[in-house]
Amino acid sequence: MIPALMPTYNRADLAFERGEGAWLWTVDGRRFLDFGAGIATTSVGHGNPHLVQAIAEQAAKVMHTSNLYRIPQAETLAARLVETSFADSVFFANSGAEANEGMIKAVRKYQAENGHPERFVTICFEGAFHGRTLATLAATGNEKYLAGFGPPVQGFRHVPFGNMNALRDAIDGTTAAVLIEPIQGEGGVRPANLQFLRDLRAACDEFGILLALDEVQTGMGRSGKLWAHQWAGIEPDVMSSAKGIGGGFPLGAILAKEKVAKYLKPGTHGSTYGGNPLACAAGNAVLDVILAPGFLDGVDRVARHLWRGLQGLAQRHPKVVEGVQGAGLLLGLRLNPEVANGDMQNAAAAEGLLTVAAGMNVLRVAPPLVITEAEADEAIRLLDRACLRCTPGAEKAAAQ
Ligand SMILES: *Cc1c(COP(=O)(O)O)cnc(C)c1O
Repeated sequence: MIPALMPTYNRADLAFERGEGAWLWTVDGRRFLDFGAGIATTSVGHGNPHLVQAIAEQAAKVMHTSNLYRIPQAETLAARLVETSFADSVFFANSGAEANEGMIKAVRKYQAENGHPERFVTICFEGAFHGRTLATLAATGNEKYLAGFGPPVQGFRHVPFGNMNALRDAIDGTTAAVLIEPIQGEGGVRPANLQFLRDLRAACDEFGILLALDEVQTGMGRSGKLWAHQWAGIEPDVMSSAKGIGGGFPLGAILAKEKVAKYLKPGTHGSTYGGNPLACAAGNAVLDVILAPGFLDGVDRVARHLWRGLQGLAQRHPKVVEGVQGAGLLLGLRLNPEVANGDMQNAAAAEGLLTVAAGMNVLRVAPPLVITEAEADEAIRLLDRACLRCTPGAEKAAAQ
């Protein structure tokens, strides 16, 4: 019989009851070091006292009023995001897919309002992940995810990740925007070359199309800067954020330049929950932590420490780990084709370390941004043991 909880996931047989910082405890009392962070989402750690207090206090006052009224918490959060980004205006949603869906609408609307309704195509990249709604599925373009769900939403085109010639060839009179993750997350923790991002910016300007960034996974400090595109020194026209922005509370956002945002007038887009007082109280508390003086420098420092640790791991276990990639605290172990990332993920969990598999046989390491160097060292120690478990031929060698 089908489980009451719809079986859309392959869940590990682990259930957690409590967390603190980078640590989680199961209902039966086992302790895990969480270097998956709920898929790069619990940015300020489990049970962060400042976030917990902000949510509890706001919940007791008023959780939800709808966007029929002003929401001071949302006005504050939007103003802070504007102050700390390229954006002039912010729309709040509840998830990454929803933020991307709104962003796709925004680039189409921009072109239509500028006299080019025929420019509705968003150019995306192979290996992308933008979400599971119908439009974001089409933007993702993964045949496996699209199968069985009818004709994909029109207006998306895919080119190889990082290929400027292919990108320029794909631009034509129907192009509205280019949409890219500065680091492909689900696709395999693949960073875009910084020069490629600069060239994209230049190409968008040249052809009068918009640069849209999906920073759902890479944003909010995960890369060691507040936004990953800042490493390239460029600014997008519009960007999505989610995952880490609520620290575990569902929240997403579209950040946009005025020239894009000004067309999203009343009636063009909306959400019942989006940016409600509770979600924005969470978002403001997360920002308090991430914008505190020295915090992002600390993320960068511990990230470099973790990077060196993972490099050492790769050197000690060349039959398991072929290389390390990513940036900041969004890192990936590129595994030997003989070692399935799912097996490695299970081996790490058996040693007490939570990680997340990604595409291209990569094991994703994305801890909360608040980890210490000692916790990074502990993760390396546990990964060493997991690598021993996964070394091809190890069982046979042990049996002899
Ligand atoms: C997770 C993710 C999404 C989808 O976010 P949801 O909150 O699951 O809808 C979109 N884009 C990127 C880059 C992501 O990592």
